[in-house]
Amino acid sequence: MDYVVPAAPQPSVAVVGTSARFPVRRIYCVGRNYLAHVREFGNDEKAPPFFFAKANSMIVEDGAAIEYPPLTANYHHEVELVAAIGKGGANIAAESALDHVYGYAVGFDMTRRDLQQAAAKKGHPWEIGKSFDNSSPCGPVYPVAKVGHLKEGEIQVTVNGQVRQHSDLNLMMWDVPHIISQLSQQVTLAPGDLIYTGTPEGVSAVVSGDTLVGSIAKLGILTIKIG
Ligand code: MN
Repeated sequence: MDYVVPAAPQPSVAVVGTSARFPVRRIYCVGRNYLAHVREFGNDEKAPPFFFAKANSMIVEDGAAIEYPPLTANYHHEVELVAAIGKGGANIAAESALDHVYGYAVGFDMTRRDLQQAAAKKGHPWEIGKSFDNSSPCGPVYPVAKVGHLKEGEIQVTVNGQVRQHSDLNLMMWDVPHIISQLSQQVTLAPGDLIYTGTPEGVSAVVSGDTLVGSIAKLGILTIKIG
């Protein structure tokens, strides 16, 4: 195939236990999936979680240093369980949704909070606050064959060694099967899709020079330095 401009490379992340990589297709994120995080911003506790998206080129791998992004003075970490889709489908039933998961990883849904909130106030899309260069750090994928499915377990992020977010996966409002089922009613999922499943309370600002270490039980750690 000839292209008139250079074609984008295929973004991918490492997979534990193999040199083969997980090719990233689309990135979806769940908003407001932990009650304590809904409360810390005074959002509607009765409203169901919802989805937004990032481009696959916004993936950053474990160990990377990333630039402090432009336009923001309130750059936040959100540590999240990431589900990596291995089998696609539309209108997937919650009962069979876990069959579609290849594995799991630790992710950061990096957020320009000031821009996100300003956009929300105007009724504009969240795009500028959520979808920007290097906004989707993702650790290595742990295959289900190795770790099983994660319904509970500690989720945490430290900044320069200090705990900022600490919770448990069992506090998600929608669990992974219901997230997949809901999302697959909106779009057809395919192998390579990543779903960031929402963040617990404790989100806070980071600055240049900070080191973020995210961890989830059974999934190791994700380390990112802000350059
Ligand atoms: Mn998030």
